[in-house]
Amino acid sequence: MKFHPLTGEFARAADETEFLTSQLPRTRSLLGFTLLFCVIFFQLFFLTDIAALGLDAALRETLPARLGVALIGGTGAWLAYRRPLSVAGTRLAASSAEILSLGCFMVVALARSNEVHWHALSMVVIQVVIYLYIPNRLAYATAIVSGGVIVFLALVHYLLPPRPVADLLTMGMLLAMINTFGILAARRFNRVAREEFRLQTQLKRLAERDQLTGCYNRHYLNDHLLGAELARARRFGHAVSVVLCDIDHFKHINDTFGHHQGDHVIQNFATLLQGMTRQGVDAVVRYGGEEFLLILPVSGLAGASALADRLRDAFAASTFTVDGEPVPTSASFGVAAFDFSSKDLRVTLPDLIVAADKQLYAAKRNGRNRVESVELAA
Ligand code: GH3
Ligand code: MG
Ligand code: MG
Repeated sequence: MKFHPLTGEFARAADETEFLTSQLPRTRSLLGFTLLFCVIFFQLFFLTDIAALGLDAALRETLPARLGVALIGGTGAWLAYRRPLSVAGTRLAASSAEILSLGCFMVVALARSNEVHWHALSMVVIQVVIYLYIPNRLAYATAIVSGGVIVFLALVHYLLPPRPVADLLTMGMLLAMINTFGILAARRFNRVAREEFRLQTQLKRLAERDQLTGCYNRHYLNDHLLGAELARARRFGHAVSVVLCDIDHFKHINDTFGHHQGDHVIQNFATLLQGMTRQGVDAVVRYGGEEFLLILPVSGLAGASALADRLRDAFAASTFTVDGEPVPTSASFGVAAFDFSSKDLRVTLPDLIVAADKQLYAAKRNGRNRVESVELAA
């Protein structure tokens, strides 16, 4: 997980998507809150329109723009709170609210043409809010703010009463300075949030996965898989199968070729198991040294046994070589299945594992490189 040097966001799109998806609830509530807060404040400023222009002119010249902001910002806030906005949706809501509200702000600035310095100060506040409080891609925020500043300066120069050049220059430089600091602050903010996410992801991986193979470890099996899969199977009433598999004569491989080559065989076997099972559905656990447990939800005995046989076949057919010499490898499999639609509350996943272990033992006893299966009765 590398960072983009300019934006502080993740360099790889997949990492960034994973991060943003995990942050979505927080992003949505921050977006909703910020838009709502800004809308309410922007409406309160209508009082200052009345004070500056008188009621008639304020109603005519600024109220439509103020109501426009209420509509745009309010819709954005409503969407963020009420709708399951996607990452792209939150960005679209943020960007359009920013652009349209800046447009409305320009209309008000045009109507109150004698208060240029207050408008410049408002531009500063708007920049801070866009960079630090409205969640959006930094590139979009930068484009919107920079475009807004240019339009604002052009408006001051061409449409408002003439001002000394020094005034415009000072204003432009101050706004550019705030813009730069806004970008730097947003970049740092992006980076800190993503560093925390990266650390959490690494810690989670270390806690849940086995280092050699990347499979789940026993800790994850006990704390997360067993209970969750059993609850799901009982709730939806489907079958679950477990497969215990163990590399044959592995001690011999270790003793003959060394522990390091033995590790490679374990890794090959794990890669094969992970590659041939359903990602995000089945779980592959490193159960012991060269012993793995597969949990296959929504799989009956026939399907699980067929899968075990395909795995057995693939591992036996795979060629592992040491110094160019092929080393034959094989594994034995024990399968146990139970149909939880029977609503029998006595059977649990540990029962299935015990049954699969007995089948594995039978497969070893019956000559290895075999699959033995059993279906538990309700
Ligand atoms: P069987 O066919 O009955 O399964 O025989 P086996 O030799 O495979 O079984 P056994 O359980 O006697 O041997 C397993 C060996 O695996 C013993 C242990 O030293 C080795 N082992 C356990 N973990 C690791 C590991 O991470 N790397 C390596 N290289 N070896 C390991
Ligand atoms: Mg073994
Ligand atoms: Mg073993």
